[in-house]
Amino acid sequence: MAEFELIQRYFSRAGSRRKDVTLGVGDDGAVLQVREAHALAVGFATLAAGSHFLPDADPETLGHQAVALSTNRLAALGAEPAWLTLALTLPEADESWMEAFSRGLDRLCTRLGMALVGGDTTRGPLAITVQAHGLVPEHESPRRGGTKSGDLVYVTGCLGLAGLAMLAQQGEIRLPAPDRAIAARSLAWPEPRVDQGIALRGLASAATDLSDGLASGLSRVLQASGVGATLQAEALPVSPLLARHLAKLGGWMLPLSAGGDCELCLTVPPEHQVALETRFGRLEVGCTWIGTVDRTPGLRCLQSDGTDIAAGFG
Ligand code: ADP
Ligand code: MG
Repeated sequence: MAEFELIQRYFSRAGSRRKDVTLGVGDDGAVLQVREAHALAVGFATLAAGSHFLPDADPETLGHQAVALSTNRLAALGAEPAWLTLALTLPEADESWMEAFSRGLDRLCTRLGMALVGGDTTRGPLAITVQAHGLVPEHESPRRGGTKSGDLVYVTGCLGLAGLAMLAQQGEIRLPAPDRAIAARSLAWPEPRVDQGIALRGLASAATDLSDGLASGLSRVLQASGVGATLQAEALPVSPLLARHLAKLGGWMLPLSAGGDCELCLTVPPEHQVALETRFGRLEVGCTWIGTVDRTPGLRCLQSDGTDIAAGFG
């Protein structure tokens, strides 16, 4: 089948139908109607074979992950997802690969109410770049440089499960088969924190996604804001599964520093704490307080015995 037909077949209908798409797949580019009094937010994600996944990775999970990672960045901006564009580089026009990839992408886009509105397809080493576009009421986006001393630090969901899955995949830790399956599943099928992103609007002073890990993501926020933070290691939320393996993994370092979790970190001025906890209390996945922003530059993460496991970060 010719390449053009393949694009038509697998990408012309992906995701939801939206009335705000004036021109989509099939035209030279996309024309989209931005809602009144809203700003357009854009989040990016690139997955390259060899550095982000193995070339033989399940294409359905890759389609899902490209949408999840880019949409989670939108969530950190407080945006509601709307549209997606896709730049796909493939070594060859492999129909079964495209079918499975588009299935993963289509299913998550449809569930999130997003429409695939265009892209480009080229030949070369396998790489996937996605831009997720969303809408956020003007002036309600948190920003990296917005946090101040005294703000409270929260994370959504649980930390470290993706990191655990990667260690198991690389053979660096042996897990019982059921645990390995649960961890691998969370790595393969990340869930973007869209509702949590909407819940933080107008309340969070800063937010970031945690794809590079908590220590790295939060450090960038602190640097941009000219402040520091002190976290309580034992407050870091981990799933019961990870809690069982924490001791042999060297303690709290994994949830503090491992990348790959599809979660958000946010900072909240104390006057918004009650409102934030109320909003998050209504969601299926809530948030956990882990520490406080202060004036001393850098990131500290103190265990109950006083040792700082974040020394060397930020
Ligand atoms: P062009 O010569 O304009 O690059 P293409 O054949 O690459 O034409 O694309 C035709 C249409 O298909 C365009 O509307 C483009 O946005 C869309 N398209 C191409 N590749 C993709 C893709 N990977 N995902 C979504 N839409 C795509
Ligand atoms: Mg093209």
